[in-house]
Amino acid sequence: MRHSIQAERRRVFQVEEIPVEVVWKSVRNMNLRLSTDGIMRASVPCRTTIAIAERFLAKNLLWMRSAIARSKKRGMPDMPEAVEGAPVRFFGCEYKLHIAEGRGIGLILFDGSAMLTVRRGSTAEAVSASLKDASRQLLQEAAATHFPYVETQTGLSASSWHIRDMKTRWGSCNVRTKRVCLNLRLVQKPLVCLDAVIAHELVHTKVSNHGRDFYALLNTVWPSWREAMELLELKDDRPVREFQ
Ligand SMILES: [Zn+2]
Repeated sequence: MRHSIQAERRRVFQVEEIPVEVVWKSVRNMNLRLSTDGIMRASVPCRTTIAIAERFLAKNLLWMRSAIARSKKRGMPDMPEAVEGAPVRFFGCEYKLHIAEGRGIGLILFDGSAMLTVRRGSTAEAVSASLKDASRQLLQEAAATHFPYVETQTGLSASSWHIRDMKTRWGSCNVRTKRVCLNLRLVQKPLVCLDAVIAHELVHTKVSNHGRDFYALLNTVWPSWREAMELLELKDDRPVREFQ
């Protein structure tokens, strides 16, 4: 049976260890990029054969590997070290961490200082966990006002949202349940980033992939998302272009 290229609009290629989502569409050139959600994506002109697409991906294997490595290093900050005097970042501002023992866990941001209260006799591990808990609480409070704000602005809504510490994605959305997950590490970034990630995930309640419809809707409901993504330091989202 003759293989029909026209019928095949989307296909995932496994290039060594990297899955790449290839979409055939009316573009002039083959494009390859690492999406902000960590997925490698390529768009190729409608007439591109599978063999040509495979060759293009194989030729760019090293670029894909280094883009993934760079985005991991730069894009996703680690959670800060819970050590007295260490620099910590909340909502884009840097603070000096001060740790004191008290009755419960608390975090106060004041005049360049982040004052963390931990339970008496806490081990280093428990201090780390306390900083994480306090960070989660901060983001929870911010998202409690920002999430409904972005929902109102975009006219889109989720069924619920929650926070999780994730290593590769700033957010995710279950298209079926419309449940949105926000990365705990957003607590370190300016609030415009939180808004843009919320807007991005809310668009997924309507469009599951990152195709043209997705970006058309995102551009309409949240035009400033690109600037916010730059602040998220995902500089490796630049496409590689190649003329056929
Ligand atoms: Zn996405």
